[in-house]
Amino acid sequence: MFNLNQQAALGLTQAHLCDFQGRQIEKTIQRDLEQMIQGARKSGITLSLASTFRDFDRQSLIWNNKFNLIRPVFDSHDKPVDMSSLNDAEKCFAIMLFSAMPGASRHHFGTDMDVFDADKVSDDYQLQLNQAEYGEGGPFEQLSQWLETHAERYGFFLPYKHFNGGVAKEPWHISHIERSHFYTGVHSQQLLADALKCSNVAGWPTLVDQLDGIYQRFVTNITPAGN
Ligand SMILES: [Zn+2]
Repeated sequence: MFNLNQQAALGLTQAHLCDFQGRQIEKTIQRDLEQMIQGARKSGITLSLASTFRDFDRQSLIWNNKFNLIRPVFDSHDKPVDMSSLNDAEKCFAIMLFSAMPGASRHHFGTDMDVFDADKVSDDYQLQLNQAEYGEGGPFEQLSQWLETHAERYGFFLPYKHFNGGVAKEPWHISHIERSHFYTGVHSQQLLADALKCSNVAGWPTLVDQLDGIYQRFVTNITPAGN
């Protein structure tokens, strides 16, 4: 039904990945990532990987747990959302502030990762990935500033650098410019609709029904490189 590049764009294969420090990344970005980690080290930053590739099923588990009130959903101020009072569409929109629909996560590409600075926290620190950690006075403020200034030199950018009305600001999420561009070029609204229709993603009929607006607001609506 889907060719190999389409499967990669949707998180339905691992054929485009390689191992990197025990994690899976897209196989052509290894050298650029190594150089960025080395560059960060020279500035006293231990650029470490919290989360790299996630497949469609893993994203579905996260999504369904949030949709079914098993896992908390937070608003842009890191406050929990009362999901029990929301209808299906409202639940989907609340989740999409921080979690992509399965089939629409940039983590499917293997070119995107959530990073932190391992030397600024203890070994047993529970990473939250929230604004407090990466903002002023937080343990990863220096990393956040370094990425804003230097990531593009190494071929990476911050697709969620600014809140543009869709996904929240995510200063921890970086993306390989050239290779992620390849997968976003393969991805499309129709492809995503086809994948959702044969999935067990909670609320998928609502997502497919409203996909015109959702795709623009939450999938293509990133902060491009150079901004
Ligand atoms: Zn991420």
